[in-house]
Order: sequence, then C-alpha cells, then structure tokens
Amino acid sequence: MTKWVYSFGDGLNEGRAEMRNLLGGKGANLAEMAANGLPVPPGFTITTEVCSAFYENGRKYPDDLRAQVADALARVEKSMGLRFGDAAAPLLVSVRSGARVSMPGMMDTVLNLGLNDETVEGLARSSGDARFAWDSYRRFIQMYGSVVMGVPHHHFEDVLEQFKRASKVEDDTAITAEQWRTIVADYRHLISTHAGTEFPTDPQDQLWGAIGAVFGSWMNPRANTYRRLHEIPASWGTAVNVQSMVFGNMGEDCATGVCFTRDPSTGENIFYGEYLINAQGEDVVAGIRTPQPMACARAEAGQHPMETTLPQAYAELMRVRSVLETHYKDMQDIEFTVQRNVLYILQTRSGKRTAAAALKIAIDMAREGLITQEDAIRRVPASSLDQLLHPTLDPKAERVQLTRGLPASPGAAAGAVVFSAEECEARAAKGEDVILVRIETSPEDVHGMHAARGVLTTRGGMTSHAAVVARGMGRVCVAGAGSIHVDYAAGTMTIGTHTIAQGEWITLDGGTGAVYLGRVPTIAPTLSDDFNTLMGWADSVRRLGVRANAETPDDAATARRFGAEGIGLARTEHMFFGPDRIGLVRQMIIADDELVRQKAIAGLLPFQRDDFASLFRIMAGLPVTVRLLDPPLHEFLPHAEAEMVEVAQALGKSVEEVRARCAALAETNPMLGHRGCRLGLTSPEIYAMQVRALIQAAVIVEKELGKPIRPEIMIPLVATQAELATTRRAAEDEIARVLKEEGTNLNYYIGTMIELPRAAIQADRIAEYADFFSFGTNDLTQTTFGLSRDDAGSFLPYYVDNGLLPRDPFVSIDRDGVGALVRLGVERGRQTSPDLKLGICGEHGGDPDSIAFFEEVGLDYVSCSPFRVPVARLAAAQAALATRSKVGNPA
Ligand code: ADP
Ligand code: MG
Ligand code: MG
Repeated sequence: MTKWVYSFGDGLNEGRAEMRNLLGGKGANLAEMAANGLPVPPGFTITTEVCSAFYENGRKYPDDLRAQVADALARVEKSMGLRFGDAAAPLLVSVRSGARVSMPGMMDTVLNLGLNDETVEGLARSSGDARFAWDSYRRFIQMYGSVVMGVPHHHFEDVLEQFKRASKVEDDTAITAEQWRTIVADYRHLISTHAGTEFPTDPQDQLWGAIGAVFGSWMNPRANTYRRLHEIPASWGTAVNVQSMVFGNMGEDCATGVCFTRDPSTGENIFYGEYLINAQGEDVVAGIRTPQPMACARAEAGQHPMETTLPQAYAELMRVRSVLETHYKDMQDIEFTVQRNVLYILQTRSGKRTAAAALKIAIDMAREGLITQEDAIRRVPASSLDQLLHPTLDPKAERVQLTRGLPASPGAAAGAVVFSAEECEARAAKGEDVILVRIETSPEDVHGMHAARGVLTTRGGMTSHAAVVARGMGRVCVAGAGSIHVDYAAGTMTIGTHTIAQGEWITLDGGTGAVYLGRVPTIAPTLSDDFNTLMGWADSVRRLGVRANAETPDDAATARRFGAEGIGLARTEHMFFGPDRIGLVRQMIIADDELVRQKAIAGLLPFQRDDFASLFRIMAGLPVTVRLLDPPLHEFLPHAEAEMVEVAQALGKSVEEVRARCAALAETNPMLGHRGCRLGLTSPEIYAMQVRALIQAAVIVEKELGKPIRPEIMIPLVATQAELATTRRAAEDEIARVLKEEGTNLNYYIGTMIELPRAAIQADRIAEYADFFSFGTNDLTQTTFGLSRDDAGSFLPYYVDNGLLPRDPFVSIDRDGVGALVRLGVERGRQTSPDLKLGICGEHGGDPDSIAFFEEVGLDYVSCSPFRVPVARLAAAQAALATRSKVGNPA
C-alpha cells in the first residue's frame, strides 16, 4: 500500500526536512520543526505523489487516499480534543498548498475550514467570543468563495465596504458578531449568484473541495507559466497540508506575524519582522492595518513592538529563532501566530535576501561557527556580487518609471540625454553626467559609451553590441527598450506621452531594465571587509585562474583592483578608434599608394606601443594576452561627409574616390568575411606593426620595472594549421628583428583563439604551432549555431520562451554543442602538447554556469570583463568545490 499521507505534530512526525520532494517545502519543514520540539499545530501532508497520480489517472485520486486522510484527520481530532464538523467542539483546519520550491500561481491558503451555521455557534460558545467566531466564519467564506469557487475577491470587499459605509463602522475589529452574521448572509448570496452553486456547508465537502482546488491549481495557466520560466518540471507536483487552526484573531493577547531571523536587506544579526495584534493569516501582508515591528531596537516613536506588547510570546519566539538557525544553519523566514499568549510556528524556510545580506550572513555565520568557510562560499550566489559593485538606486527615492528594457549591464546612473557619441564626449569633457541614447550602438560609438554614465538602446538584446561593450566597461546599460521612439533629427525620444529632448535628465537601472524620468538619487557601492574576506576564501579554493578582458588603462586598473590575475584579451581594434588614431587607420585602409600606406601604419606604431606599455605597467608582470587586429576593415571606414573629406584631403584624393573605395570594401557577411588572421595574411604589414609595437613595449617596461614581462600574442579566427603556421612565422621573424635591434632577449608566447568549429576539430594539428589556446566562445557560438548574434534578437527570445533552447547560448554556454567543441579542442590540443595553456575569453567567462563547465573540462583560466572578475573568482571557487565533492574527495 502506498503511503499518501504523512502526519506531523503532537508527537507523530512522519516527515523530515529532507523529504521536501515528497512533502513539499512547507510540509517537510513543519514536520522537521515539530520533531524538534517546536510548537507546531498538528496536521498532515498529502504527498506530491498524489498530485502526480491525480493527473496520470484523469484527475482521479488514488483509491485508498480517502481512508488515509480520514485516519490522519482522526488523529488530529484526538490530539486537539475537537471534532471536525462537530457543533459542540468543532475542529477547524487550514488547507495549504506547498510545492518543492515556493511557487507563486498556486492556490492561496484557506483558513478556518470546517465552519458552517452550526459549528460557528459551537466556536462562539467554546471560545466565549461570538465576535471572533463570526469574524472567522466570514473570513472562511470569503477565502473559500474566492480561492476555491472562483468568485473574484473584490466582490467580497465591495460587500464589506458597503456594509461599513451604511452602518458607519471604520475598523473591521469594531464590527460586532451580529453585524458579521448579516455580512455572512450577504457573502453567501454573492457566492450563489456568482458561482451558480451554493456555498458547501458540509465540512467534508469543504475539505475535499479545498484539496481538489490545490491539486487543480498545479495546472492552472499562472502556475504553468511560472514553471516554464523557472524550468520546474510539471511532474514534481504539489503537496497539500491540512493543519489544525490556531487563532490570532481572538483578542488583544493574540497576533499573527512574519519575521526573519536576521535582517534580509542588510544581513545584520537583528530579529526583523512585522506582526499585527488580533489578526489572522495574511492580514500582515494585506496591509489592512499597519503592522508593527518585532523588536524594541527597531521601533520608532509611537510604534508598539511585540517585545513590549506580548513579552512572553516574544521571548519564546527568540528561543525559536535560535533553535531554527542552529538547526537549519541559515537565516530563516518564519510565519507565526500567537493565540492567547501562546506562540505557534506555522512555517519556516530559508529567507530571501539581498546580495549584501547574503554576503554578510554567510561571513557572520562562518565566524559564528554555524557553517564552514566552504559553506559560506557556496551560500553567496556568484552572480549577485554584481549588485555590490555598482551604484544602486536609493530605495527611498521617489521615481516615475517611463518604460522598461532589458537589464543589460547592472548599476544605476542618471544623466542628461544625448543622442550621439560626439555630443556625449563633448558634454562629458565639461563634467556633465550624460546618458547616451541610441537605437543601437556600433564600434564607432565606443568612445561615447566610455564617456557616458549609462547607455540606453531601443533595439538589441542582452548580447547586442551595446550590452557587451557596456558590461565590459562597467557602464550601466538598458538595451532593447522597444517602446521608446528615438528621433535623431529632432533630437528627442518619445515614450507614450512623454517626449524628452536632448539635455533633459533620465535615470537608468541596469539591474532591472527600468528607465525613470529625471534624476533618481543613487547610492555608491562600498566594498566591505566582508566582501574582501569572501574573495580571499574563494581564492584559496579555486583552481581556475581569473583574468580580465581589457584594453584601456582604466579598465585594466579596475580589473586589477577586482583581483584579475592578468589580461586574457586585449582587443587592439578598440585602440584604433581613438580620435588621434582613426585618421591614420582610415588612411592605412584606403591608400592605394604603398608608401602612403606604410607611412600611415608607421604613424600608428607609437600609439600602439604606448597602449601596450601602459597595459604592461598596470599588470606589472602578470600575463597580458593581446589579440592582433580582428574585425573587418570596413568597420573603421568614414561614414559622415566630413570624415570622408578629411581622409580625402590627407590622401590627396577626391571624396568620390574615397567613397568608391569604401563601397568596394563592403561585405555581404562581414562576420564571416575578410577579418581575423585572414587580414593578417593578406596585409601582413598590419600584424607586423602590432607585433613590433608589442615587443618594443615589453622591452621598455621590462627595463623600467626590472621584472620579466609576459606578452602573449593571440591570433584570431584561425581555421587551419597553415593559417596559424604562416602567421606565427611572420610574427616570429618580426620579433627576431625587433629583439636584434634592441639587443636584448624576451620570453613571449604565441597562441590562437579557438573560435571556429574547424579549429576545435583540428585542435591537435593547430596546437603544433600554439603556445596557448583561448576559446572565443562568442564567435564559436555564432559559428556553431550558424546564427549571427547581431541578428538573433528577432527569434532567439522566441526560442527561449518556447523551450526550443533552454537559455540564450550567448549568455550561458551551450554545453551539448558549443561546449562539446570546447571539450574536443581541449582534448585534442593537450594530446599534442600536454602543457598547452587553455583559457576562454568570451562573454561566458563571467557567467557562473559556464564557469562551472570550464572547470569540468579543465581549462586553466577564464577571462571576463573587469566588473565580472569578482563574480568569476567566486563562481570558480564554487565550481571547484562542486567538482571536488563529485569525485568524492572530501574537502
Ligand atoms: P503561503 O504559502 O502563501 O505563505 P501559508 O499556507 O503559509 O501560505 O498560509 C498563509 C498564512 O495563513 C500563514 O502565514 C498563517 O498566518 C496562516 N495560517 C496558515 N495555516 C494556519 C493555521 N493552521 N492556523 C493559523 N493560521 C494559519
Ligand atoms: Mg506562508
Ligand atoms: Mg572572435
């Protein structure tokens, strides 16, 4: 016989916290608390297996369920000394849903079940309080009517409001028993007209109606949507808890409340919560009356903390708080009720908390000896650290939301709206705070993005140019806010009825994607001692190295400050856009006279050398991987008329000729076009110049600092061994020349990106010419899926929403496809050279789930944007702990 029903309370506890899958979170913890001697009203849990059986059998219950429920109910009756449906001594119960994980969309709890016209009189007699009995009855009808019978909640509110107005009562607690009796009749009338059936008066019918509603709600549209979004399988099912009622609405020595064992927003070790005297269930959250604080320490003048109003129950609650924390070893979120000064605990679970609180609680609990350092490392969600590193909106500040886009890069920023990178730079140079608003951004906007406090785009997704670049720079970004209409010509943006002109202020919240009107005050981040402590602990367990993707001195310095152990990707093309260089770059591309071209390239050399030297200085001997020029040349071409004229003049050509040359360079599919090492092979002078600049810079800084500098030259977009062999040979020749000129020697490394499927497959052959591999997972994802990330916005969200892909593969690595190629590349590369250094430098380098994968396949390091470095350090530590526990190596 299958056991469908598990009892808890009053000495018979058939469940345990570990049985969450079978009993749901609420039921498992009720049993666990009761087994540990905490005051839990007795009841029973109908298992999640009943839910599954119910749906497998065409919505029919297993045969023996009724008998098991009857037995369990009889036990509760016995321990309470009451009988379900007995007018002389009625037992009332609550019916509460509870899945494995807390799930909005499920049926709301029904309280006071078992009341009807007879039992309500019994309750009035036994409690000696008719007002309380009728108050409970009307609450029950209201809840049952809306939750189980589907009569909209506001209809009940309307009835009550009308009554209060007509009889001039203001407060619910002032309504008398007789008055409630009238309201109850009105409620029942409302139900029968609305639902077309009578309110059930037989307690057994009530009970099974409520149980059926809980199981039914598992498949309602709201729950289905929630499950899909959170990847919760429908097969899990929900449990139903039936529990004897305790009453917080029996008078002034009764109360109900919700509390946290520590402050969930700061993490402080202070009891935190709210309660209401003479109230029931959800009154506290429903906001009918203003709840009061728990502790005197938290009370302001005029408030009535529970510590003073109900000292006995409060003291008991303090005891429960420490029992629960010691037992669960985590901050708990507790629901309780006080009936005539006696405390009852109705729920406990690990409390939700802010990133700051998660950090503080983990560190404090490790110091208190409640958990180990490793537990503390596991406790803090790596991605939440992001919140701690950026300014946030002042939660107390008033705000008017204009619209919402994608939360593309975290933090909060306010500034004057500008619509061009040039304007952005000009205003920022004068010290103004600016927000760059573009339909979408391109490499030409990078200098403007750098100058801006934040970036807002109306098109593009989480991996659009704006999003990637802003994250890299640590700029706030809200992307793809489609309801905004930008008019560049007019210099305005319009959202609904609001039109905002250049120079007017807006505020972005990159953590939520919200866009606000005007300036909303922000709070600066502080890197607490706790943060540094956690990072130290993480560093002591992680195996993966963490480097940063950075090319500007600013970004490199940020990366070091956040603990990067080198640069894993410096994109040289970002250095080409500086206002003092772009002219030379354009001449280099457009000139057809070889001498002019050489001159332009030579002109770029000192700039590049300075750029590299400053990276080497900041990194002070840590490895610096520099990628040679990667994007197609036409990305650098002039667009505006003035720019065309400028280039034409410098080259002594006509604007027409320049325009024609630009047109000739255009490609149908530039992502798969003339870029990467293909450029280096067809225009070797460019790579030669870059290599020269790099080696010269290394020599300079090595002398300056008196310690070895480690340049790593990275060749992009390699598909074949021959490409790498040829490019490598050319680079080595140039290096030999430079070192001979300088009369010195230097250790350097030449490696390649693995970012094309062919390169991963041919990794054994490519490794013959590589000192290191760096997996370029952005391009590798594009090329493996054959999908352009710049164009994916129109269909990728559909894929994710409809379960065709579990997640956006540009955000979290696709283990089965792209990941399989990474794994293959690792295996084949190491086959050829066992100590080949292996890293990854795509966006995935800062994504905790992807980092777990890179740990599994045994990469040496990840490289991510500077602001993600702490996230990556923590995620790498968590991944190391997970791998260790998997191979059964006790840490
Ligand atoms: P939710 O999952 O929405 O929190 P619960 O099942 O926890 O729903 O019920 C909400 C509230 O109802 C509880 O916090 C508690 O105040 C009240 N409640 C539930 N069961 C009982 C009971 N047996 N006695 C008294 N109050 C109860
Ligand atoms: Mg609850
Ligand atoms: Mg690439």
